[in-house]
Amino acid sequence: MTTESRNATTEYRVERCDDCGERTPHDVDVELEATHNDRVRSENEKFARTPCRVTTCRRCGSESYDRLS
Ligand SMILES: [Zn+2]
Repeated sequence: MTTESRNATTEYRVERCDDCGERTPHDVDVELEATHNDRVRSENEKFARTPCRVTTCRRCGSESYDRLS
């Protein structure tokens, strides 16, 4: 139960970028990946979304997705 407020500045991590071929700063965001099916029953809805970690290379803009589940 933390009440930390988000800073305006975005955190970033230094990770390897395949496009750049070296370690570069990446923007990191965590999103809920929705399924293709719009008719998901509410009962299954919580199982239909997968937390997805999105990293965007600040140098070349390349995005990569990592499922967290
Ligand atoms: Zn890159």
